Amino acid sequence: MINKYITNLAHALAKIPTISKKNAENIAFFILENREIGDLIQESLTGALSSIKLCSLCNNFAQEEICRICKTRSQSKTLCIVHNIVDLVNIEKTPFNGKYHIIKGKIDPIQGINKEDLDIDRLGNRIANENIEEVILALDRDVEGNLTSEVIIQQLKGRVKISKIAVGIPSSGKVSVTDRDTLSRSLSNREEA
Ligand SMILES: [Zn+2]
Repeated sequence: MINKYITNLAHALAKIPTISKKNAENIAFFILENREIGDLIQESLTGALSSIKLCSLCNNFAQEEICRICKTRSQSKTLCIVHNIVDLVNIEKTPFNGKYHIIKGKIDPIQGINKEDLDIDRLGNRIANENIEEVILALDRDVEGNLTSEVIIQQLKGRVKISKIAVGIPSSGKVSVTDRDTLSRSLSNREEA
C-alpha cells in the first residue's frame, strides 16, 4: 500500500524540525486522504515559495532583495544577532528597533553543524559597511547557543561593542519561548560580553 510517492512525501515532511518520522507518515496519509487540503497546501506553498525570499542582508523574509526592516532601519547602528526568523519575530514584539542578522541555526558539533554551516562569516563586513556600533547577541542560553555566542565574540572582539541578553531568559534558554516583557527587560538590561 505504501508506494514510493507516499514514502517520498513522508521523507520530505520528516525533514521539518519537530516532525517525527511517524508524524510525517501520518501527515502524508492525511494529505492524500483529504485531497482538497492537499491542493490548498500545494497552492499556498507554490505561492509562498515563488514570492518570498530571504533578505540578502539579514536573512529575514523579504519580497524584494532587501527586507522591510533593513530598508526602514538602514541608519540604525545596533545589530541584533538571532538564530532564526522565529526569534526575530519574537524580538519584534519588544520596543527594540535596530537591525538583525539571522545566522540560520546554532553550532552543534554533535550534529556536525559548524561555524561554516551558519551565516557568521559575513558579520565582519556588515559591521564595517553599515557602521555598526553595537552587536547584541540574542542567542539561546543552552549549550549550543552559548558555544555559538563564544565563536561570534571571538570573531568580532575588539571591532565593535558586543553585549548579550541574559536576564530572565527561562531555564530552557530559548529566545523563541521567552515572553515579550521578559525579552524587553532582558534586552534593555543586556550585559557587555
Ligand atoms: Zn533584512
